[in-house]
Amino acid sequence: SLPGGGLLKVMLLGESGVGKTALAGIFAGLEESQPQVLQSAEDTYERRILVDNEEATLVVYDIWESMDSCGWIQENCLQMGDAYVIVFSVTDRVSFNKVTELLLRLRTSRPNQDLPIILVGNKSDLVRSREVSREEGRSVAVMLNCKYVETSAALDHNTRELFEGVVRQIRLRRGET
Ligand code: GDP
Repeated sequence: SLPGGGLLKVMLLGESGVGKTALAGIFAGLEESQPQVLQSAEDTYERRILVDNEEATLVVYDIWESMDSCGWIQENCLQMGDAYVIVFSVTDRVSFNKVTELLLRLRTSRPNQDLPIILVGNKSDLVRSREVSREEGRSVAVMLNCKYVETSAALDHNTRELFEGVVRQIRLRRGET
């Protein structure tokens, strides 16, 4: 099985208002039929999900924007993740423009590591206020060497795929597939 007791730590990163907490909330609602594995701190969610017929235990951390005057939490966040979900809003170009900087910061703090990183364009339901096209999202992901997925936390669209994708990316790198 996987190291670390099989717990996979997934960090949600991104600007304020892009939907990190909404996505964490959806993750928290997964597999509700198994309440015995339910365990949640205020902004940390642990769930077991079945991916490709194999169970995985994910712990999703929505702590990126915690009160943190000295940057200690963010630094820890960058150090301790097994995978990273970098979220921007497709309706907010500023949040998209920050992605590259965030990714460079992550890669700098974990040099020479092939980290599973998923870029998420959230709020895909807000078609009329879209500011970032799917193509732009995709090409930045290619440039930054990460996966790209568009989600709508509001409509619960593509969210399960997102978390399953995280598990697959981790397994790929650990040679488990
Ligand atoms: P955070 O600051 O990144 O944690 O963002 P939140 O999860 O708090 O979301 C910010 C606002 O965007 C809230 O009002 C959410 O209801 C809204 N929101 C989040 N995801 C979506 C989405 O997929 N579609 C729409 N329409 N609104 C969303």
